[in-house]
Amino acid sequence: MADPLLTFTDRGIYCPDGGFYIDPWRPVDRALITHGHADHARDGMGRYLATAAAAPVMRHRLGDIALDTVTYGEVRRIGGVDVSFHPAGHVPGSAQIRIERAGEVWVASGDYKTTDDGLSERFEPVRCHAFITECTFGLPVFKWAPQADVATDIDVWWRANRAVGRASILGAYALGKAQRLLAAVDATIGPILTHGAVENTNEVLRAQGVTLPDTIRVTPETDTKAHPGALIVAPPSALGTPWARRFGASSTGFASGWMALRGVRRRRGADRGFVLSDHADWEGLNAAIDATGAERVFVTHGYTAIFRRWLVERGFDAAVVETAWEGEALEEGEAA
Ligand SMILES: [Zn+2]
Ligand SMILES: [Zn+2]
Repeated sequence: MADPLLTFTDRGIYCPDGGFYIDPWRPVDRALITHGHADHARDGMGRYLATAAAAPVMRHRLGDIALDTVTYGEVRRIGGVDVSFHPAGHVPGSAQIRIERAGEVWVASGDYKTTDDGLSERFEPVRCHAFITECTFGLPVFKWAPQADVATDIDVWWRANRAVGRASILGAYALGKAQRLLAAVDATIGPILTHGAVENTNEVLRAQGVTLPDTIRVTPETDTKAHPGALIVAPPSALGTPWARRFGASSTGFASGWMALRGVRRRRGADRGFVLSDHADWEGLNAAIDATGAERVFVTHGYTAIFRRWLVERGFDAAVVETAWEGEALEEGEAA
């Protein structure tokens, strides 16, 4: 019998026949990258391969790297395997990576969500024999409401704050969540200000054709009192800091899948929690796994032990693999 198509090493997921790693967390010669979040696209690789849509953010974050790109669905022969990238619906440019050798297909999904967020290329199920999946929100308690409903909740909150001259400070990850929210809220309510980390990503995405409403970058010189009732979008790490206090009277909101859990909002110091994630909920994970037709499932990050047990009960050959990938981080602004 041939070697496994993918193996799990302490540097990352490795394809012996292709001589490459997927989202490695230690320096390697050749890295295939699912998306630009910091826990997946790291510094120090000899060569990178990613989707053309993910490339601008990767260059912005990692500088002058040796980066080759593919379009979605384009097949590349690497060593003894065929490789292609397919939309993961997680953030703009994100991909699942499909590897085929003599009719045997494995898919590494990276981070994904199955619902359409209006900005990311929509998740595409890929048939395979073995599926490597995250399970950040792999418990039945995680069930996402439609994005339009969440956007309406945010609009109502923003309008109410604006009516009393209060700023609305909304915490959201700088790549993906922030832009998704910017595109989903009613931008006619008032001015929208952005933290530099968010605006840097906005600029990269606008330059590649992503449509976002007008925003005002907050700099040290910004007169933060000149825009009463503004919506301010900032990474979660900026909430509750001197940066956020510059805006005077404010209400703080946090958009995250973790807001589905009682107590997390208060612990995070937010007045309002909006349940919105760029990861699949329980139903999304199960539907995605079913749609692959895979018999073998490897679960990487999230509620791995519980989710594996659930998959085994459902008849899958399931295993947990250790990676350095993270789900939706609660405290940090970057890894997601
Ligand atoms: Zn991740
Ligand atoms: Zn991610």
